[in-house]
Amino acid sequence: MDNLQEIKAYATTLSLVHTKNELEQLIHEAESKEISYTEFLCKVLGSEIKHRQDKAKERRIKEAGFPYPKYLKDFDLNFCQSITRKQLNQLSELNWIDGIYNLILSGPPGVGKTHLAIALGYQACENGYRVSYTTMQSLMQVLRTCEIDRRSKAKMNRIYKSNLLVVDEVGYLPITSTEGNLFFQLISELQEQTSIIITTNKGFEEWAEFLDDAALATAILDRLSYRCDRIQMSGKSYRLENRKSFLNKGDLADEI
Ligand code: ADP
Ligand code: MG
Repeated sequence: MDNLQEIKAYATTLSLVHTKNELEQLIHEAESKEISYTEFLCKVLGSEIKHRQDKAKERRIKEAGFPYPKYLKDFDLNFCQSITRKQLNQLSELNWIDGIYNLILSGPPGVGKTHLAIALGYQACENGYRVSYTTMQSLMQVLRTCEIDRRSKAKMNRIYKSNLLVVDEVGYLPITSTEGNLFFQLISELQEQTSIIITTNKGFEEWAEFLDDAALATAILDRLSYRCDRIQMSGKSYRLENRKSFLNKGDLADEI
């Protein structure tokens, strides 16, 4: 076995996958730049670590289950007047996840609740936190079936292990009293262990109505609100203000 093959065999034994795959390139670069032994070793180990970190980040983002990517850098504060630059910076620093604070984003459709929730979730994944995204509707389905369905069980296990749970679209559809109770149990179990972002189109006073149970609504909101910031996002719908059409100007669609 020549040296190169021997190194590759060692790398395999040590699970240094990136080093094994990139060995020729790493050596070639080192030779052409005439770097020292110290620099070379530093580069090999450094690139293996970087590769592992990138992979882990990708895995966290995939496992979070976001419906599509959204980024904080694309969130236009000129359009959304309900949040200051300072607040957005504080949110993006993510200390509130370490402190296990919750965040409730409420407001009418199109004001950026989901965008902000996903973007914060993304940022959290990038920074090493485990995140789970779900809509309320899909969470209810998972809670109802987790005793009998392996996929639901796996999703719940993932939620329990998360640092941050995003529950999108709370209050859009009415839920049954069994579902309401399961939601309450989940919120209670996650208390002091997982941060939760809720997006909702309902004011607190309307939760009793969509849960069809005033006492349950109070109990859930009591737990959610204990360590929590609430951002009331008002204003116009970004979708309506930035409506895109595919017909040429002058066509009927522009007059809608
Ligand atoms: P909501 O969840 O409040 O109904 P979304 O977050 O889904 O609204 O926003 C609707 C669309 O408008 C999305 O494509 C989102 O990226 C965009 N959007 C909303 N608010 C903003 C904003 N302040 N800056 C940039 N894009 C925005
Ligand atoms: Mg939404």
